[in-house]
Amino acid sequence: MADTKKVKHQTEKDNPFEEMIKRLDVAAKIMKLDDDVYEIMKKPNKIVYSSLPIKMDNGKTQVFEGFRVVHNTALGPSKGGIRYSLNVNESEVMALAAWMTFKCAIADIPYGGAKGGINCDPSKMSEGELERLTRSYTSAMSDVFGVDKDIPAPDMNTGAREMAWIVDEFSKIKGAYTPGVVTGKPLHLGGSRGRVEATGRGVMTATMEAMEKLGMKPEKCRAAVQGFGNVGSITAKHLAAQGIKIVAISDHTAAFYNADGIDIDKAIAYRNSNKGVIKGYKGGKLISNEELLTLNVDILCPCAMENQITEENANKIKAKLIVEGANGPTTDEADHILEKKGVTVIPDILANGGGVTVSYFEWVQNRNGYYYSEEEINKRADRWMKQAFNNVWEVSKKYKVHMRIAAYIYALSKIELGIKSRGSY
Ligand code: GLU
Repeated sequence: MADTKKVKHQTEKDNPFEEMIKRLDVAAKIMKLDDDVYEIMKKPNKIVYSSLPIKMDNGKTQVFEGFRVVHNTALGPSKGGIRYSLNVNESEVMALAAWMTFKCAIADIPYGGAKGGINCDPSKMSEGELERLTRSYTSAMSDVFGVDKDIPAPDMNTGAREMAWIVDEFSKIKGAYTPGVVTGKPLHLGGSRGRVEATGRGVMTATMEAMEKLGMKPEKCRAAVQGFGNVGSITAKHLAAQGIKIVAISDHTAAFYNADGIDIDKAIAYRNSNKGVIKGYKGGKLISNEELLTLNVDILCPCAMENQITEENANKIKAKLIVEGANGPTTDEADHILEKKGVTVIPDILANGGGVTVSYFEWVQNRNGYYYSEEEINKRADRWMKQAFNNVWEVSKKYKVHMRIAAYIYALSKIELGIKSRGSY
């Protein structure tokens, strides 16, 4: 059985939830957010914690920690991925859930925000162990999840395989086949065409919109992409297809630089044949992760994880444009430094919203039982992303604030409307 824990704020430096609160405070003040709405937004609606005992392949039992945080449901059922990583803790999942609330409001899809995670190292677990862990987590969260309640999706280190296990376990528990309870499913189980590429494709669309506003020409620009998982690799592929030269890529095992441009298709093929990592790739010179972030490039896309651009390295960043494929890669202190330097940052809650947008299309298709072509999905997703970008851009001009604060303001004004018109106790 899952039990509900009290809200506990962690105090360590760069606590992601505190990073969220700092931006919320600034946006709330500028837009004169209603005090009651501010109080609601400051705390997640629900935090569910569950210990998950799993029989490992060696016969021993290992107990994992699983979390699901629902931040807000004013605009609809909560939506957000599930990540498997050793960095998963309550404060991280709380922040990621809040960012989903803002992200869905900005993307203009009828959802609130949630996030889940299990503290584990999936690279050291067998497929059987991962399946048992995913099923145990689903069972613990079966009263939280629901097609009209809370709809998970993939996030770091999870994908269509895990979503299929969740559909199966959830359907067994409820006694009815329920594919719409998660998105990011395999195509043959009701997944949507275009979902796998959607986040990276959206990061590209946001980058192209920003470049147009800033007068940057793709064929004259060089980019570095941090992270080579689903988001980073697809972002790099789509940026390259637009004529931008990708001179550096990285993952948690290595980073590479090539002044002539990295062949992204080759790098993806190498990764796929190399247990999912780019270590040992021969198409570039080995550099450090820190060097990648501070390279002399026009565009930097942090697509790995939180707290990568901090007060320690922000001053050394040379890119004019940062587009956040990851959630929370830039700290609040770094934001201030980057703003002073004149760097434009397209924030996570806008830039990586393409994934959840196509998740919404998947959920709609599941409800209707009618499926669209990839072309149709991509066309709609591109339109949604361009609209979201321009909505936030307008707010940034109106309030004379940078794009992150503008994104918070845009999201908060919609959520405020939702909360007020629904009323409260
Ligand atoms: N995990 C992704 C995100 O952070 C996708 C969430 C979803 O599709 O629900 O946006």
